[in-house]
Amino acid sequence: MSAIITTEAVVLNTYDFSNTSKIVVLYTQKLGKISALIKAGRDKNSKIGRTADILNLISIVLYNKDVREVQLLTQADMVAFFGNIREDYDSLLHAHAVLELFQYLVKEHEENQRLYAGLRKILYRFDQKAELPAVTFLRFFIFFIELAGYELSTQFCSNCGRAADHTKDEAGLNNTAGVLCSDCAQKIPHTVHVSQELFNALHCLKSGNRESGLQPGGAIRLISMLESFLKYQIPEFQGLKSIKSI
Ligand SMILES: [Zn+2]
Repeated sequence: MSAIITTEAVVLNTYDFSNTSKIVVLYTQKLGKISALIKAGRDKNSKIGRTADILNLISIVLYNKDVREVQLLTQADMVAFFGNIREDYDSLLHAHAVLELFQYLVKEHEENQRLYAGLRKILYRFDQKAELPAVTFLRFFIFFIELAGYELSTQFCSNCGRAADHTKDEAGLNNTAGVLCSDCAQKIPHTVHVSQELFNALHCLKSGNRESGLQPGGAIRLISMLESFLKYQIPEFQGLKSIKSI
């Protein structure tokens, strides 16, 4: 069975293919993550080839054949180019870290409207430059981790169930138990201490608050804490390469 499909997509990556063609890895609204071939896509006159570049949000037409691994991309129009992300190195690195999560941790051919909407929204947020890029990344990272099924509760201790007050409590993060109150954090081995500042920030970012109160150092610590947590949950996850050097 084959079909012509029109959908929107974010370009996650591109590869050269044969002498003139190009393969793009896309996260699409209708088909989830897919690879698509652009015939003669490396020709400088190829409009599709230029449009389907990493990070772009594009509207596409695909010739979709169920039996074929790689679909054929026959049309691509720009929806958003995210110029503000591209001109700021820190924004670019963190936006690439979002794309990395899709490349390495999202399975192919699984449609997910919430995940697609989340990706679209976070790219626009990076482009608005409303806050530190690391904080924007964290908003998405927390959403992504929870959508993958690993709850990061800031309301109740995952071990004893005690209610938490994010405005004054410290906490702990444990790979198997999740987010813990400070008492359980001391009792359960291999728990990473989460300061009051970071616990409050985790709560604010989870709840979509505009203000997280995070300074650059705190944002980096929280990213690294959640990265270790996710590495434990998904052993094939090697960590975030784009922001490794930060
Ligand atoms: Zn507890």
